[in-house]
Amino acid sequence: MSNKDIGVFEEWPFKTPHIKTVIKKIEAFAKAFSNATSEKEAYSIYKKYSHYSDKVADQITHIQVLYTLNTQKEEYVKAQNLLAENGPALSSASLLFSKALVSSPYRSYLESKLGSHLFTILDYQIKSFDPRLEEDAVKENKLVMKYQALTASAQIEFQGGVHTLSQMGKFLVDPDRHVRKEASALYYSFLSGIKDQLEDIYDQLVKLRDHEAKLMGYKNYVELGYLRMNRFDYSKEDVARYREEINQVVTPIANKLFKQDMKRCGISTPKVYDLGMMFKDGNPTPFGDTNDKIESAKKMYSELSSDASTFFNFMADHHLLDLEARAGKSNGGYMTYFPMKKCPFIFSNFNGTSGDVDVLTHEFGHSFQSYCARNIKVPEYRAPTYESCEIDSMAMEFFAEPWMNLFFKEPTKYRYEHLASSISFLPYGVTVDEFQEWVYENPEATPAQRDEKWHELEVKYTPWKAKAYKGCSYMESGHRWLMQLHIFELPFYYVDYTLAQVLAFEFFNLDRKNHEKAWKKYVKLNTLGGRLPFRSLLAKTGLKDPFVTGTVKKTIHPLVKLLKDYNVH
Ligand code: ZN
Repeated sequence: MSNKDIGVFEEWPFKTPHIKTVIKKIEAFAKAFSNATSEKEAYSIYKKYSHYSDKVADQITHIQVLYTLNTQKEEYVKAQNLLAENGPALSSASLLFSKALVSSPYRSYLESKLGSHLFTILDYQIKSFDPRLEEDAVKENKLVMKYQALTASAQIEFQGGVHTLSQMGKFLVDPDRHVRKEASALYYSFLSGIKDQLEDIYDQLVKLRDHEAKLMGYKNYVELGYLRMNRFDYSKEDVARYREEINQVVTPIANKLFKQDMKRCGISTPKVYDLGMMFKDGNPTPFGDTNDKIESAKKMYSELSSDASTFFNFMADHHLLDLEARAGKSNGGYMTYFPMKKCPFIFSNFNGTSGDVDVLTHEFGHSFQSYCARNIKVPEYRAPTYESCEIDSMAMEFFAEPWMNLFFKEPTKYRYEHLASSISFLPYGVTVDEFQEWVYENPEATPAQRDEKWHELEVKYTPWKAKAYKGCSYMESGHRWLMQLHIFELPFYYVDYTLAQVLAFEFFNLDRKNHEKAWKKYVKLNTLGGRLPFRSLLAKTGLKDPFVTGTVKKTIHPLVKLLKDYNVH
């Protein structure tokens, strides 16, 4: 590894940046850049500014990680609060530099050095933020923190222990139906208890975002949201057509898969607590504890690719993986990147289910992309836009499949579960997207109307689930979305997973035909980073475009056949 010794994560000094000083420094960079008298001088200031931005990014990311690791620790809450309060002012300051860059008299020289796509990225940045939005953005940040802390606060007593929501996940797929039923009652009772607070947080978020959009001169937050997501080469009309295709092609397949699951499990009237079940004797669970999983992953990557292996070992050696669910830890899983240290960090909530293996391979896929793109100098190009990022992670889940015997006693059952649930994920994913589009097009809707809309979309895209919800008033009345953190924290980030899923399926199809070729293509995609927008990246790498009618069907059909061939029972 080229990283100078970065030590182990828990020993990194915890430092809160002095934001006012940072802002002053960025303003000075912008001024110096505008006053540059030659193209060489302008370029040299840009490079210094990028380097400085990376330094600040390392500090900010450190705070964000520590806060999500322990949302209840006062020191971290204080630091995260500081970011929430000052982050928007920081965005305004960096906007000054972006504006100076796009209007530079040396732009053509800079484009030749940095690539013209950077200027499109900056253009989107300029169109999506404005100092007038700072006040709203601070409020938004604080509401998101409130959401994180509330959903991380669960202390559910069950079977002699106290559990977070993530930890309860294990009981929700227990082979014993009575255990599932009991666990599910406690789980939904906790959620019902915080429901009104969550609805209120979201209501405020929607109104703030709508206000921000209108202040910027947009019709509603859908337009602003698309700009903020850097959707350079597709529109909401493209997405709407794609959602319909998922509904036409995938909903019936997922419905059929669910029926087969229930038959296999001997369940005639599925309930909410049966939805995750695929096998009568329980879904496959991985061997051993977290360390065993790390050891298995080391063995897997040593056989898959020497680069992936070196990098995974590096992450384990420097404690850049915090995998287990714990009280106070934020929900979900993510990978984040420290540009100065040139290293990623993986955060997850292992709970002993097969999901642990999905998350490990998924987040390592993101990490491996950061490794492939580590020598890209322009910060904006290091990672691609989100839908492309998720190809890197979701494809890695499938590249890992041949090694699942290292994690599971019955690897074929895992392969079946992973593939079937990935297919069934698509209709859910587009539900989240259509819901958000509706929400921001109807910002005045009441919480009850939002729930009703969610329910209506569930009936459309995942009717088998809507049916199974009968008897669970929380789910039946359309509250499932309250637990989808992206809806609160990252508006419009969701259809991205579904687009990436289709591409990950394409990699899986390629990998089964010719591993060498598929892996080469994958590394090529990762190495390109964000030099190109989504659809151009696909074209450049020779991947099929999911927006083109027929792609979804062509990609999924061989996989439906594969599921049959697994012949699980
Ligand atoms: Zn991901």
